[in-house]
Amino acid sequence: MMILSQSLKEQLKEYLKLLKYPVILRLSSDESESSQKVTALVNEIATLSDKISVVSADLALTPSFAIDRQDYETGIVFAGLPLGHEFESLVLALLQVGGHAPKITDQQRERIAAIHTKQAFTTFVSLSCHNCPDVVQAFNIISLLNDNVSHTMVEGSMFQDLTDKLGIMAVPTVMKDGKEFISGRQTLDNILDLILGQSELARYNELDVFDQFIIGGGPAGITAAIYSARKGLKTGIIAKDFGGQVMETSEIANITGTPLTTGETYMANCRNHMMDYDVTLLENVAATHVESAQSVFQITLSDHSIIESKTLIVATGARWKSIHVPGEQEFKNKGIAYCVHCDGPLFKDKSVAIIGGGNSGIEAAIDLSHIVQEVTILEFGDHLNADRILQDKLATLDNVNVILNANTKEILGDQKVNGLTYEDRQTGKCHHLSVEGVFILVGLDPNTEFLNDTLQLNDYGEIVIDAQGRTSVDGIFAAGDCTDVPFKQIIIAEGAGATASLSAFDYLIRH
Ligand SMILES: Cc1cc2nc3c(=O)[nH]c(=O)nc-3n(C[C@H](O)[C@H](O)[C@H](O)COP(=O)(O)OP(=O)(O)OC[C@H]3O[C@@H](n4cnc5c(N)ncnc54)[C@H](O)[C@@H]3O)c2cc1C
Repeated sequence: MMILSQSLKEQLKEYLKLLKYPVILRLSSDESESSQKVTALVNEIATLSDKISVVSADLALTPSFAIDRQDYETGIVFAGLPLGHEFESLVLALLQVGGHAPKITDQQRERIAAIHTKQAFTTFVSLSCHNCPDVVQAFNIISLLNDNVSHTMVEGSMFQDLTDKLGIMAVPTVMKDGKEFISGRQTLDNILDLILGQSELARYNELDVFDQFIIGGGPAGITAAIYSARKGLKTGIIAKDFGGQVMETSEIANITGTPLTTGETYMANCRNHMMDYDVTLLENVAATHVESAQSVFQITLSDHSIIESKTLIVATGARWKSIHVPGEQEFKNKGIAYCVHCDGPLFKDKSVAIIGGGNSGIEAAIDLSHIVQEVTILEFGDHLNADRILQDKLATLDNVNVILNANTKEILGDQKVNGLTYEDRQTGKCHHLSVEGVFILVGLDPNTEFLNDTLQLNDYGEIVIDAQGRTSVDGIFAAGDCTDVPFKQIIIAEGAGATASLSAFDYLIRH
């Protein structure tokens, strides 16, 4: 049995030349077919470097393998096959255990060292999930650098019984002591925020007053920061999740001059571009309140810090919209999902519903039709709103049904989703649909709740702006998907970020 292709082996062999210290792979296996595959992988890796050896072990999950040093158990374990998107996590773990320092900041290193209690984490992944490797790699780094922490990656499809027992219906999901700790895309910083909790508060109180402070680290906010820094202004930017919605996007093909890229690559480039300038970036912390004080704005953060700035740009973007029906909160990540690229494979051969017949709903149906047994699209209106080209493609698929005039009333289940009810808006009759997954794709809500009544919002909660990005409050500007602009796209948000920043500069030189 051969697990790695010849080209993958050659690539890995090159990487493994970089190992500085011997690495021990401790393998826990039995007679099962899954174990044979994991054993084959571990043995193949060992043939690629004379610094790697394999010993047998009895680990909590079988099949699995720990990656250790001769004199030190790192706590890093892979259960199942770390291939697909997780192959990178495997390579990094081998190199880091083999002596290559993880690329993290001094501050992150200090925070990892500050974990003083024993903690064991398990991350459930699928190999096609592009948000999972960040989480796996972050926990592996913490595990490597702190004896108190251990981390096991579990490849869900090889441990179906366990994922069913724990009710895991979305990846990545991180468990601690048998309970869900965190799910969805995470960065090292916000994992550390959660682990360290209340022990660190008001980290940013000592910062000087900014000229321009930007709330939001998506395309709009990053562009505003670049423009502001290039004007020589003292610039700060805060991002709850750096990169924003673009990080949910696998392929981007409509940025002028960039025919094709991925969300992650694009935002990594944007980050590097921004950090070429003198910009203070506060990451994985949120703005929770904004108010005017004498000649400055005061922004309260989720860690209770208070930031002061002469001008403010709000670029907080938007998030997947809820349908606000019973069962939606209860079964989130237990059969209710929003990201087809991430969670689609978990519904292999199952029946799923998609709520929403716009572009995102129909794209999702086309994507899921290759994975699941049957897709039912529930559209509230009397016709689909998606582009004609998508509807034509949909019509060629024989495992997709469309129900129009369907008002979803409730999502049902016990431990996880097992169906939903909807009302036929023409007849008023209620119907039951048996499904194991529900993808809710009904558009986006602006992230403007934290503003309370500070700024004028429209009926959809979007910030009302003029052509110069000015809001209802002098000195506060806004840009991107959180505003009332008709189209929500990357380059539109970027243009708006530039406009808001230049307007804020104009405001500063006049006041
Ligand atoms: C799945 C998907 C695919 C897409 N594909 C494309 C595409 O191919 N091409 C295209 O042009 N557009 C695409 N879009 C749309 C595009 O991503 C958005 O228009 C764009 O990201 C908007 O940028 P933004 O900066 O306004 O907001 P966002 O990208 O939403 O960024 C908002 C930022 O603000 C932060 N934030 C929010 N609240 C707070 C707070 N209180 N404190 C601190 N920070 C906060 C967020 O964490 C984030 O960093 C796609 C969107 C999605 C969801």
